[in-house]
Amino acid sequence: MQTGLAHKYLFGPVASRRLGRSLGVDLLPFKTCTLDCVYCECGRTTTLTTERAAFVPVNDVLAELAEWLKSGGTADFITLAGSGEPTLHTGLAEVLRGIRALTNIPTCLLTNGTLFHLPEVRAAAALADVVVPSLDAPDPLTFARINRPAPGVDFDAYLQGLRTFAAEYRGALWLEIFIVPGINDSPECIRALAAQAAELHPAKIQLNTAVRPPAESFVRPATPAQLAAIAPQFTPPAEVIASFRATLHEQTSVALDEVLQLVRRRPCTVHDVAHGLSISFSAARAALTELSSRGAVIREVHAGLEFYRAPGA
Ligand code: SF4
Repeated sequence: MQTGLAHKYLFGPVASRRLGRSLGVDLLPFKTCTLDCVYCECGRTTTLTTERAAFVPVNDVLAELAEWLKSGGTADFITLAGSGEPTLHTGLAEVLRGIRALTNIPTCLLTNGTLFHLPEVRAAAALADVVVPSLDAPDPLTFARINRPAPGVDFDAYLQGLRTFAAEYRGALWLEIFIVPGINDSPECIRALAAQAAELHPAKIQLNTAVRPPAESFVRPATPAQLAAIAPQFTPPAEVIASFRATLHEQTSVALDEVLQLVRRRPCTVHDVAHGLSISFSAARAALTELSSRGAVIREVHAGLEFYRAPGA
């Protein structure tokens, strides 16, 4: 069921390739991150920082979630993600405890892991049921090329923070590795990444690639054949994150605001909007066409697929 109301901190539920229908919770102003990854689907980082702060009021976030649940909202996961790095928020632990008090829907934290050297960040992250940190580079040079860290982010400290968190954490650790052809897909690079990933003993390793328009236009997606060749080199063997499939619940109309909230967070195809909001393909296309005619979204083609994104994103 959709509430039809525009939200400030919640988005979706979106169609996630690994989490099913995932309600996103965004704790940061647009594009506030410790990294500026060349492949980021939110565009370039505008606030590149390692300074943690209470970017948005925790009570307001939880009140919005409570309202959404009260109106019949359902999802497979509640995911802390969005347009920046969630561990930058100093109220992360409070948010995760607050979600647990409101609902049994499992929580997931998508993080780049660069703040895991801080004990308070590891303690907060450990409250999530699933934590999905990123590891795209096996050495400082590749890290600089692909992840473009904020001043003060040290590669060795980042790696050690990931190892410490992995050793302490009792939930499900899923490691995400983003393959950018020409930067981190050489046989040596994959071997080194596989060795580092194995040390973390993740429950899952997931390979991702630029299936959505990336921050930098030179980034191209790896082909399915490339990913299939890389996947078995990891322990456990990596999963190539497959296209999301779900049953569509027919709905003839959709609030344009809901669609706009989704597209503002990340570029979406018509299918993404249809699956994410549980509406028909034709309703999703109609909403995107209407928003496009109003100039609220821009249509663009990436890797042969048609995406819609917010202007300036
Ligand atoms: S991909 Fe994640 S970690 Fe990288 S810049 Fe975007 S939000 Fe930050």
